[in-house]
Amino acid sequence: MKIGQYIGETNPGRKRRRNEDSCVTDPPVFAVADGMGGAQAGELASSLAAAALTERGDGDLGGEERVAELIQEANRRVHQRAVDDEAASGMGTTMTVALFHPDGSISIGHVGDSRAYLYRDGRLEQLTEDHSLVAELVRRGELSPEEAEVHPQRSVITRALGTDPDVDVDTFTVQALDGDLFLLCSDGLTTMVDVDTITDVVDRNRADLRAAARALIREANNRGGDDNITAVLFEVIEGDSEGETMETVALHPDEEDTLHPLPQTGLVEGDTSIVSVDAIQSALAAHEREAAEPRASLWRHLVAAIVVAVLLAVIVFLVVRGLAR
Ligand code: MG
Repeated sequence: MKIGQYIGETNPGRKRRRNEDSCVTDPPVFAVADGMGGAQAGELASSLAAAALTERGDGDLGGEERVAELIQEANRRVHQRAVDDEAASGMGTTMTVALFHPDGSISIGHVGDSRAYLYRDGRLEQLTEDHSLVAELVRRGELSPEEAEVHPQRSVITRALGTDPDVDVDTFTVQALDGDLFLLCSDGLTTMVDVDTITDVVDRNRADLRAAARALIREANNRGGDDNITAVLFEVIEGDSEGETMETVALHPDEEDTLHPLPQTGLVEGDTSIVSVDAIQSALAAHEREAAEPRASLWRHLVAAIVVAVLLAVIVFLVVRGLAR
């Protein structure tokens, strides 16, 4: 098996001053990173993480261990910088990496809420599970997937690169079939565009991945473009990659202005934040209290209504008895 077309496109969206997303299209490695932090730290975090991948040494034999190793190295670089540079203190980034092996296996590793999808036979399957507060609430059955989509805290992530010297990386491997298409993307795409629309867009542009990536970004911007948007697409096809120049599409994220078809409005700074797993507990407690409160006030209303009804009955009884005399 070999890599066919591939493309990485990133766009600031319509409301953000900066683009804190980064992407890597450096076969056999593909990645998306979505940075966060004050001032320009978000951009720094995601670009440091991306650079760690492009500056990797030999040893791309594939496999989950290698992917975890690459992400750990990216984490070390971001964390070290956050420690050394006060202006970058507290910065972090998500990272989702796909590593291709010529036997057709794709090893994926990720931290945070940037996702990997597999498009096969006209269907789009989400491969990664978000490390986010709302995803955790959905897993615990406390939130429906529909509620999670519109939850005000949907951009709060529970794991990120850069916050600690070591990071917990989720890894797994997918066996690719001829014609499989992989999509790595930041939450600026998935929070704006539903999975059916992403599937349709990919379907319509399946023959041209550059067109597909641009159409995905356009869809996100047409729906508001609240966040930076990044899409990396690569296809796996039958064939031998040994000693052969691969048919590829290069990465030119800022090549054309056509990616900015709409004026930017109401610029805001990034609002993504990282919370520890402990903080989830308190957020969950707050969520439960919020959920319980309407019930409590319902009871108060009910008790008040009964008291009023009883008083009214007593008054009516007294009046009727008084009239009867
Ligand atoms: Mg984002």
